[in-house]
Amino acid sequence: LGSSLRGSLDKLSGKSRVSEDDVEEIVKEIQRSLLQADVDVSLVMDLSSSIKERALEEEPPGGTTARDHVLSIVYEELVGLVGESTEIPLENQTILLAGLQGSGKTTTSAKMAWWFSKKGLRPAVIQTDTFRPGAYDQAKEMCSRAEVDFYGDPDNEDPVDIARKGLEETADADIHIVDTAGRHALEDDLIDEIEEIESVVDPDRNLLVLDAAIGQGAKDQAQQFDESIGIDGVVITKLDGTAKGGGALTAVNETDSSIAFLGSGETVQDVERFEPNGFISRLLGMGDLKQLTERVERAMSETEEEEDWDPEDMMKGSFTLNDMRHQMNAMNKMGPLEQVMDMIPGFGGGIMDELPDDAMDVTKDRMRSFEIIMDSMTDKELENPRSIGASQIRRIARGSGQDEERIRELLQQHKMMSQTLKQFQGMGQGGDMERMMK
Ligand code: GDP
Ligand code: MG
Repeated sequence: LGSSLRGSLDKLSGKSRVSEDDVEEIVKEIQRSLLQADVDVSLVMDLSSSIKERALEEEPPGGTTARDHVLSIVYEELVGLVGESTEIPLENQTILLAGLQGSGKTTTSAKMAWWFSKKGLRPAVIQTDTFRPGAYDQAKEMCSRAEVDFYGDPDNEDPVDIARKGLEETADADIHIVDTAGRHALEDDLIDEIEEIESVVDPDRNLLVLDAAIGQGAKDQAQQFDESIGIDGVVITKLDGTAKGGGALTAVNETDSSIAFLGSGETVQDVERFEPNGFISRLLGMGDLKQLTERVERAMSETEEEEDWDPEDMMKGSFTLNDMRHQMNAMNKMGPLEQVMDMIPGFGGGIMDELPDDAMDVTKDRMRSFEIIMDSMTDKELENPRSIGASQIRRIARGSGQDEERIRELLQQHKMMSQTLKQFQGMGQGGDMERMMK
């Protein structure tokens, strides 16, 4: 699907104006992707009419092709649809998790605790599920793997009492994450119980945990939990499966909230903060919307960004992914890719002459996806690519909407460039590299 959307957009490439038919076709592709990702029909329809209206009425800014113009409108509207990430300040707070049984609350509580602990805070998980046999052991085990404080009491059958005692027992912690029981369906006793826990715990945030496969069932749940305790944000779990989580947008819309975290696996590290670009790319099955949009923005603002990067530094120390990214940017500024490729370690060596004509596009695509991938990396990873292992690759793939294979390619490319550079350094010659950079 992503490729047919891309195809429709590419049809606009040579044009400076878009026709109604063009827009119609693009909107149809987007609708198809979104509906298939479980996004609610009425949300899709609202989005479609905004895109159509804007694409036909707004003038493309100078220097922008019709394709990029439409693309940036599509992207802006999609960001409007999925929303920005729920604000989670890195300070003392209590978070209550709500949701049906099996949605992933217990797993999420340990994941979020792990996430906070990586941010330097001291989290504690309080397990109040007295309904599901084994809930205590499961939570305890996960928290010990996450190396975070845990409170639960398998001999106490009163969840409200457990919550109260849990807060007392874990008073030293900065972050209190209160896990609750679920049921197979929304039942009155579940709602009563969570309301009571809520009033004792007095949370700063109530998060609704939803399975990515939820579909339109999200609506009732969201309504009920929002009415009883108020929902401030949504967590989407099991994004490592085939479901794209579009149903959760219904819950976001229904509760007038936003998405806070995404879960993508069974271990405590399989968690990330929600980020609109990665999520949108995933919904559409298309990786490079953000970067293309940025290109439009660049065309609009004619101010050159400040470069505080000095190629000389690269010659002295180790070659990081940040260096590689700067090198790629420098290349983009230098003009047509074809002409500079030969000078780049790893790309060069006359290799260009031997490639078929369309191979250049592949390379451009590759560089574009490298950019997107690097946007999903942490500063630490960019500075120290060796810290990127299998689980980081999985997370980055999810965040960037790119294949894991692409990320390995990027790391391979970096390694190759880094080795070439070492040879330069070994020979004590920075000249060629510097010339290339300027
Ligand atoms: P709860 O009933 O809401 O507390 O849900 P649990 O946390 O017990 O999760 C239910 C099941 O889903 C467990 O088998 C978890 O291992 C699994 N699970 C939770 N989150 C994820 C996820 O992000 N990915 C995958 N693959 N499984 C998950
Ligand atoms: Mg549970």
